[in-house]
Amino acid sequence: MNQAVPSVKLLINGEFVESRSQEWRDIVNPATQQVLARVPLATADEVSAAVAAAKEAFKTWKKTPIGARARIFLKYQQLIRENMKELAAILTAEQGKTLADAEGDIFRGLEVVEHAANIGTLQMGEYAENVAGGVDTYTVQQPLGVCAGITPFNFPAMIPLWMFPMAIATGNTFVLKPSEQDPMVTMRLVELALEAGIPKGVLNVVHGAADVVNAICDHADIKAVSFVGSTKVGTHVYQRATLSGKRAQCMMGAKNHAIVLADANKQQALNQLTGAAFGAAGQRCMALTVAVLVGEARQWIPDLVAKAKSLKVGAGKDNLDLGPLISCAARERVEGLIAKGVEQGAKLELDGRGVKVAGHDSGNFVGPTIFSGVKPGMAIYDQEVFGPVLCLVAADTLDEAIAIINANPNGNGTAIFTQSGAAARKFQEDIEVGQVGINVPIPVPVPLFSFTGSRASKLGDLGPYGKQVIAFYTQTKTVTSRWFDDEASNGKVHTTISLR
Ligand code: NAD
Repeated sequence: MNQAVPSVKLLINGEFVESRSQEWRDIVNPATQQVLARVPLATADEVSAAVAAAKEAFKTWKKTPIGARARIFLKYQQLIRENMKELAAILTAEQGKTLADAEGDIFRGLEVVEHAANIGTLQMGEYAENVAGGVDTYTVQQPLGVCAGITPFNFPAMIPLWMFPMAIATGNTFVLKPSEQDPMVTMRLVELALEAGIPKGVLNVVHGAADVVNAICDHADIKAVSFVGSTKVGTHVYQRATLSGKRAQCMMGAKNHAIVLADANKQQALNQLTGAAFGAAGQRCMALTVAVLVGEARQWIPDLVAKAKSLKVGAGKDNLDLGPLISCAARERVEGLIAKGVEQGAKLELDGRGVKVAGHDSGNFVGPTIFSGVKPGMAIYDQEVFGPVLCLVAADTLDEAIAIINANPNGNGTAIFTQSGAAARKFQEDIEVGQVGINVPIPVPVPLFSFTGSRASKLGDLGPYGKQVIAFYTQTKTVTSRWFDDEASNGKVHTTISLR
């Protein structure tokens, strides 16, 4: 345990407290290996205390007027804007992405906070008069109770902000478990949320890894779990949480393909492809990691390689094109997969291994890497590399390219580059992927819409924000009532209430 650096606190019942855990992890700057802080793996008692605080706070929070809840998020969005630079600097130091990408990470979360401030209009129920003689039925959307969120390392601002603002704005209380690899920016966002007026116990934070996640999945007082992370862990969380009777939604890993047709605007397509494949060092669930080059577009490989070579690798704070990978282990894994790609017969067009960054000899850097001749069955195609590695696959026709994508189990995002309306129309209709871009490389929807990953990239039908989130964080109560016009009964009497 490294005592010389600050410790990351838990948030329980409105107090930032030091964990009593014996198990701690270092939070390391991936560009320098400097230890920035240490984070506890919370004890079982600490997880229980956080859930108990959330359960108690729910009693009053669920009755807090919609307008009062919304005003907290109006203030919160303002505080995030005012502290954007500081938040981005913390995020870059612990996660590695460039300052520009860090601000993007925070901004995409901020959009969800803005949406949360206006969520009341989506919480309205339905009403039907005279469903039987003198009988009316209406529905109300009620919060569930204590909800929990488990988040990954790659968007430590945006993804926590996908979760707790929507859950809390709809009247729930929350226990957040941030990634243990980079929880510091998340904690600064949590401090700002309290400053905005979130009452004690409504938002709680526990840190940890597998044991804490399992405790959340098993806890009888937690009603719903949102997870974002890898497919392996997400599948485990979904099974374990639903087994104990919880709602669960798990957004998971990906293998996102782009189709490049020869009628595309070549320069724009190459720029967007390289940005989407190598930006954030490829550590995005919506990164474009496979480009299917159709027909004459197969001749564009040298231009693509030249474009990728022009990207600059460096420490995130120097704000070049891409920063380091999150950890030494992640770099070793990505380099191992590149070696495997060569061994399995793919052609290495550009090798990002061993890239040197002046003044940062120990950073976890891998430069843009491109393989051509990639086929299903190769590890670089079958696995989510989660590094700056682009696989090129060849196809003769649009139909063949669509079939390649539809045969892949993942369904997070996809894109087509073309100037043909007919091709774009066919693509959006036939492609079996949840989020579709037409000349848009990373089609993550704004929060008016839902994040709609599909197939193996998602378990649970709903999305983390947008309209679908209301169905996730609320239960519908159907009230059927008969109103007696009778002075003796004092006017009005409810007869039936059912909950589904
Ligand atoms: P991860 O699955 O390793 O970790 C996610 C969370 O699960 C963390 O909070 C971690 O502490 C916890 N965890 C890790 N191992 C666990 C275990 N054995 N049991 C229980 N909990 C465990 O994911 P990561 O490496 O932090 O994030 C990268 C992954 O997240 C990629 O696969 C990426 O595609 C995915 N991701 C998906 C989306 C999406 O919306 N679909 C968005 C961002 C990231």
